[in-house]
Amino acid sequence: MRVPGVHRLAFDTRRVVLTLAIGDDTHGLLSGMWLRADAFHIDMTNGRETDDPRRLCKTLTRLAGDGATVCLTAREKTHAQLRRALDAAGFEPALGTSPGSLTARFAPRWRVRCHEPPLPCDASVREAIVIGAGLAGCAMSSRLAGRGWRVTLIDRHASPAREASGNPVGVFHPIVWRDDSVAARFTRAGFLCARHRWRALEQAGHDLESSDAGLLQIADTPEDADALAAAIARFAYPADYVQPVTRTEASRIAGIEVARGGWFFPHGGAISPTAICTAQLADVSDRIATRMNTDVARIAHDGRIWRAFDANGDEIAGAPVMVLASAHDAARLAGLYGHRRASCAASSASSTRACSIRCAYR
Ligand SMILES: Cc1cc2nc3c(=O)[nH]c(=O)nc-3n(C[C@H](O)[C@H](O)[C@H](O)COP(=O)(O)OP(=O)(O)OC[C@H]3O[C@@H](n4cnc5c(N)ncnc54)[C@H](O)[C@@H]3O)c2cc1C
Repeated sequence: MRVPGVHRLAFDTRRVVLTLAIGDDTHGLLSGMWLRADAFHIDMTNGRETDDPRRLCKTLTRLAGDGATVCLTAREKTHAQLRRALDAAGFEPALGTSPGSLTARFAPRWRVRCHEPPLPCDASVREAIVIGAGLAGCAMSSRLAGRGWRVTLIDRHASPAREASGNPVGVFHPIVWRDDSVAARFTRAGFLCARHRWRALEQAGHDLESSDAGLLQIADTPEDADALAAAIARFAYPADYVQPVTRTEASRIAGIEVARGGWFFPHGGAISPTAICTAQLADVSDRIATRMNTDVARIAHDGRIWRAFDANGDEIAGAPVMVLASAHDAARLAGLYGHRRASCAASSASSTRACSIRCAYR
């Protein structure tokens, strides 16, 4: 779906992940990211020659891994300016230039940036405990295991998805907002990423009990319907993402008479959260150790390893990284928001905690 924002597409049994950013402002899109890239492919042919090439190339410098390559497709008349900007930003021309594009390699001859882009976790850290086997914990475990991490997944119930994620059915759709707010952009990225992942699970033979009839939302008022229709037109969302619908169209889609028009997500729908959790774990079952029927009473950090303990004080598991996906209980375990801290060791290790959490996130 060609909608603005960040798309994460996995290939080759998820060993290769393409981060595809679509938007009007090439520099703006890149400057909002924090990553270490191996390769950039930038298409500037849609009138983007108005972008300042020096700003763009400085941003590439901020994100480039060692030897990162850049392939810029741009109008011929801008090539000389782009070449100068690339050179000033530490990129040297590379072979393989095709007509209409410039290729270069990050090979700075002098220091060109104040901060290094994030490094992947070193192999010795790639071991995590995930507490909570709901939608969040199962997705996190599946992603970490898919990237080669060793994961111990702990839950107090006998099987995954027994609390909020145990609903028989959940609806899914992005939020469309008049000003394309953070919530709108975040749910758009989540929706696209989830669809991609769920489709791969279904192709692998898992039944997610999903509907494919789309999802219709009825506006609260006729003014809301008009305002959303105007926003959909303004952002030029494609029809396979969202369509404004009149009352008549909404009634036809719903199969019953409805009070107002609204908007329709052709790829929204309903799905079984339990089936998603089960499929995600089955997909990587050989790489995840599960500890079900296990209630984590407290966690502690000794400066190197995070440990989870049960109510008897016995250690359940230990790992350099711990992910709290235990919904409401996460704040208690982490000692946040006035909860008594889980342990003295955890309180003295807040910077390590932040580091561990960032590593897990990557
Ligand atoms: C009635 C209802 C309807 C909803 N409808 C929708 C919908 O249609 N669409 C939608 O997108 N969202 C919907 N939601 C929201 C959605 O269900 C939740 O956002 C989602 O399930 C949260 O997942 P989670 O993994 O964060 O939490 P949970 O599913 O609650 O998972 C947390 C897990 O952590 C475990 N745990 C907690 N503490 C400990 C501990 N100390 N030790 C061991 N294990 C622990 C629990 O056993 C649990 O399995 C709905 C929620 C409800 C309640």
